[in-house]
Amino acid sequence: MGHLVEENLNTVRQQMELACLSSGRKVEDVKLLLATKTVPIEKLYIAMQAGETLFGENKAQELRGKFPLMEQFKQVEWHFIGHLQTNKIKDVVKYVTLIHSVDRLKLGQALHNYIVKENKTMDILVQINTSYEESKFGAPPELALELVKQLSQFETLNIKGLMTIGKLNATNDETRHCFQLLKSIQTQIKEKKFPRVEMDILSMGMSGDFKVAIEEGATIIRVGTSVFGPRYLPDEYYWNENMRQED
Ligand SMILES: *Cc1c(COP(=O)(O)O)cnc(C)c1O
Repeated sequence: MGHLVEENLNTVRQQMELACLSSGRKVEDVKLLLATKTVPIEKLYIAMQAGETLFGENKAQELRGKFPLMEQFKQVEWHFIGHLQTNKIKDVVKYVTLIHSVDRLKLGQALHNYIVKENKTMDILVQINTSYEESKFGAPPELALELVKQLSQFETLNIKGLMTIGKLNATNDETRHCFQLLKSIQTQIKEKKFPRVEMDILSMGMSGDFKVAIEEGATIIRVGTSVFGPRYLPDEYYWNENMRQED
């Protein structure tokens, strides 16, 4: 008997294919990242057994809790998609291959300071607040270019693209506008040809809006609820400006 998580995965995969088809994109050009905040380890296990290989976590602490799964499923890649506090850098860098949420110079500087000591490099995305909602993290779109330019001075950071959270509880047109804005910022940055800046990744689209995001060029969509079911903590707990404890 199939499990609900597997059924949901099939549904999401089908919807991704349809969105690719209807927008003339190749299915293999869009990756599904499963957003795992608050999801019990049993459900993640099912998704991994079903062959999923890309997972994203919002908090350093929860990331650490998933270590047993990391040991067991070596082919799984973990990304960090939440607000990153500078005092958590060490825990995060240890486990993830891409940080989606670099949204300020101070964080870039702190990442660099740590990574340079470790003799490593780190792939990052720059998070942009395309909806201008105060409750969300991310650099203001007007400052994106300057921020990327400043971040590109850190030789430990490979800037792979951009990330955004589309406007929530909005019409398709409003969310589409957020994604189009991210795309246009990507184009502007590409033209500048900054060192270590590739800009190939657009991380955008969640359960409610990933179809629109794919139509607008997403290369990674981040899906939680549609696969794992509803969460019992409001997203504000992860996203709210008031949660900012430093910087
Ligand atoms: C929770 C979360 C998601 C997934 O949201 P769903 O609506 O559950 O699909 C995507 N991106 C970020 C940054 C998140 O925190």
